[in-house]
Amino acid sequence: MNVGVIVPAAGAGERLGGRAKPFVTLAGEPMLVHALRPFLADGRVSSVVVALHPAEARNPPAWLATLDPRIRLTRGGRERGDSVRAALEAVPSDIEAILIHDAARPLVTPALVDRAIDAVVHGRSAAVGVRMVDTVHEVDERGRINATLDRSRLWRAQTPQAFPRAILVEAHRQAAVEGEHATDDAALVARTGEPVHLIDGDPENLKVTTPADLVVAEAVLRSRAR
Ligand code: C5P
Repeated sequence: MNVGVIVPAAGAGERLGGRAKPFVTLAGEPMLVHALRPFLADGRVSSVVVALHPAEARNPPAWLATLDPRIRLTRGGRERGDSVRAALEAVPSDIEAILIHDAARPLVTPALVDRAIDAVVHGRSAAVGVRMVDTVHEVDERGRINATLDRSRLWRAQTPQAFPRAILVEAHRQAAVEGEHATDDAALVARTGEPVHLIDGDPENLKVTTPADLVVAEAVLRSRAR
């Protein structure tokens, strides 16, 4: 089965240290390179589409244009879902299974990529995630507890997420029609009634959002290099 990867890297206004987040240097290399490496290292991956912010897509850095012949660059959209939809259109027609991975998760490992591919080549939609270790309360508008959720059934979603192509395309078609803005693709696919399996992610696979996350990500990358 031909496996393709979509990497949404087109977030607007996410500037850390004055640079677009995917291009911020972590342990000597751009965050985007860390996020791409385990996918590029997997021989089953035959195409990678990276959605960039229009400013960067117009003038991509030379290292990205020459990183790997399987990479295509495309212009992202306003919302993450728009970027994924734009990338979907650039996925070659022979790709039957698609992995989606956020550029903002540079700590992804070969094991996570392997688990996601393994699920999708067996025809399953899957998202890596980690079980909730904190208790989660739902509150009212004044911050008072309404309900305490059953922690044993709660997972925090991560990427990569993996879907048979036709299922992902249909989920995005429905989301576009309904004006739905989900923050991840697993939610969109689940809304169509397709089962989406949560599989074990990695607590280290954090999403870089704040400058403090950069410090943690750098430390983890350096510890792995030892
Ligand atoms: O905004 P958030 O942190 O959820 O973004 C997750 C990923 O989606 C990031 O890698 C970001 O670059 C990407 N994104 C995108 N297009 C947007 C917004 C976010 O590709 N319009």
